[in-house]
Amino acid sequence: MVMKRRGFLAFFGVTGMGLAFRKTFGRMPEKAEKDLNTGEKPVITYEKKRLELFHPWTITRGTAAYKENVLVYYKKDGITGVGEAGHMTAAGQNADRTIRELQPLIPLYRDTDPFLFYDLPEKAREIVPVLSPAKAALDIALMDWIGKKLDIPLYQFLGINPVSEVKTSFSIGRDKPEVMRQKVKEAAPYKILKVKITGRGDKEAIRAIRSMTDKPIRVDVNEGWKDKEKAIKEIEWLAAQGVEFVEQPMPVEMLEETRWLKERSPIPIVADEAVNTSEDVLRISDAYDGINIKLMKSGGIIEAYRMTLLARLLKLDIMLGCMIETTVGIAAAVQLQALARWVDLDGNLLIKNDPYTGLTLREGHWVMSGKPGIGVERRSNK
Ligand code: MG
Repeated sequence: MVMKRRGFLAFFGVTGMGLAFRKTFGRMPEKAEKDLNTGEKPVITYEKKRLELFHPWTITRGTAAYKENVLVYYKKDGITGVGEAGHMTAAGQNADRTIRELQPLIPLYRDTDPFLFYDLPEKAREIVPVLSPAKAALDIALMDWIGKKLDIPLYQFLGINPVSEVKTSFSIGRDKPEVMRQKVKEAAPYKILKVKITGRGDKEAIRAIRSMTDKPIRVDVNEGWKDKEKAIKEIEWLAAQGVEFVEQPMPVEMLEETRWLKERSPIPIVADEAVNTSEDVLRISDAYDGINIKLMKSGGIIEAYRMTLLARLLKLDIMLGCMIETTVGIAAAVQLQALARWVDLDGNLLIKNDPYTGLTLREGHWVMSGKPGIGVERRSNK
C-alpha cells in the first residue's frame, strides 16, 4: 500500500513528471529492494515412502496392496518445501527409477536461485526428456518452499481464488457387478463417480452403478476404442446413462478420428494420455473439448499453470487429475482447482497411511488449509 501511494505521488507531479519517468522506466533495477535470495544453497533430499492402500490394485503379476512414492525435500534458510512423485506403473515408472532420474536434476535445482524458476521446466526437460514424476517432485518442493519463504499460500502467489466448490470425482474400481455395487455404497461421501472402460462387461458395470445411484458418472477409456463408428455408438449409450464426459476414448495417435468423434459426441471428449505439457495442448486443441492436467505428467505446478493459460486461450475445458499421491501431491494440484471445470483428485483418499495433512473434503470438494506454500503438514507419527 505504501509503495503504491509513493509511486502514485511520484508519477503525478510531486517530484515532476520527468524525474518520475526516469524513476519508473529509465533505469534497470540493479537489485530488488527486498532481496529474497540469501545466497545459501538449498539442500535437496528424498525419501521413498511405502503407501498402504485401502483396496489392492491390479498389476501385471497380480495385485498389490501398496504403492511406493518418493517425497522430495528442498531445504534452505531454515525452511523446508516438500514435493512428491507418484507413479504411472503402466508407463514403467516406479520409485527406483524416479530416484535415478532425480540424480541429474538435483544439481539444477541446487544451483538455481529459487526465485529464478521461470525456465526450470524447460531446463529439467533437457536433462530428463522422458515423462518423469521426478521433475514434478522437485517443482512442487520448490514452489512449496517459495510460498513458505514469502509466508503466503501458493494459490495466492499464483493469483488464484482459493474458493472453489467444484467437487472431486472418486474412482470405482472395476470388479464383478455385486462388488461394484458394494464399492458404490462405500463411496457415499463422494458426489461424482469415475469408472474405467476395459472392453469387458462395461455396460453391466455402468448399469450396476446406475442401479445404486443417480450421481454423475465419468468414464475413462484409456485409449481403448480403435473404431470411431463403434466409439460414437458407445458414447451415445453412455450419454443416455447420464455419463458426464469421456476421457481419452481413442489412442493418442488417432487424432483425426478423435476430432471426428468430438464433432459428433453429445458429451465432452477429454484428453489425458494425449496431453502432458503445453506443447501437446497446442497440438491437440481442436480434437478434444478438454484436457486432463496432472502435475505428474506436466512436471509440476509451473508447467501445469502455463497449460491452464493456454487451455483458456484455446477454449479447452480444464480437468485436474492425479496418480495415487499423498496429500502432498494432491494439495499441490488443489492450488489450481478454481481454474478447473472438472476435478478428479482422489489419489490420497485411497491411502491408509498418508503421512501428511492439510486438505479437508467438504460436501465433496477440497478445502485447503490456508497455510503457506501448498499448506501441508507432516503427521507426527508417520
Ligand atoms: Mg485418464
